[in-house]
Amino acid sequence: MGQSNLRKPLIVGNWKMNKSICSAEADFLDISRRTRPCAKVLEIGVAPVSLHLSTLTQRRGQHMGVFSQNVHWEAEGAFTGECSARMLKDINVTGALVAHSERRQMNAETNITAGQKIRALADQGLGIIYCVGETLSERESGTLEQVLRSQIAEALGAAQLRDLSAFCSHPRTCTFSIAYEPVWAIGTGKAATEKEAQQAHRFIRSCLESLTSSAFAERVRILYGGSVKPANIGSFIRQSDIDGALVGGASLDPASFEALCASAAETASF
Ligand code: PEP
Repeated sequence: MGQSNLRKPLIVGNWKMNKSICSAEADFLDISRRTRPCAKVLEIGVAPVSLHLSTLTQRRGQHMGVFSQNVHWEAEGAFTGECSARMLKDINVTGALVAHSERRQMNAETNITAGQKIRALADQGLGIIYCVGETLSERESGTLEQVLRSQIAEALGAAQLRDLSAFCSHPRTCTFSIAYEPVWAIGTGKAATEKEAQQAHRFIRSCLESLTSSAFAERVRILYGGSVKPANIGSFIRQSDIDGALVGGASLDPASFEALCASAAETASF
């Protein structure tokens, strides 16, 4: 682990469009119980479908975060099917994922709408997990850094964040995070190597440094996402710029998520 004095690792399970309300509630309670021993070393959360958020926030103990998978940038109005940051705050949600690659691909989300969402969440004091990452053809054509730089620069430009220190009011738990998720690694079973991930994370941190400040860039947690499992989380967490994970498939089963968190906690406490 690199900057553990500045960044407590964060592990978030993205449940996508899975689970009935009964299994979401039961699994959430099960995961809370199973991961309690890891809470000193890690911050842990899940992102259920929006319909289940309120049930889970009411069952939330101290150490578990509950994240929305999406948010709209307006506070209210004629936006059928959407939900605002203020509405998420009303039900005690921890924060939201922004621009997950599935939403970029299927719901036409852009770096600009991502920035508007980041701004809306920041205005409500909610946590942000901004998802970035390249497609296989972008990586193969050598445009990885260009893609990451514009995903970050355009979103931060559109967000027009005024007071970055507001994200950093708690030691080690900056509420602005970036999830680096190479699109080709999501749900494919083919994770990036720890070296590939570390290089991309280092580059993301250097972009943040040039766009904001080195003090802020050092506080932002950069999570890796893409086929993370109990067997490979340790090798990611060991990298100096990898501060946790966004986990899809391996977060659905409480025993698997527990094993993943336990391995992350063990690695992080070294
Ligand atoms: C994700 O969807 O954010 C993800 C990383 O999925 P998986 O872990 O299944 O690759």
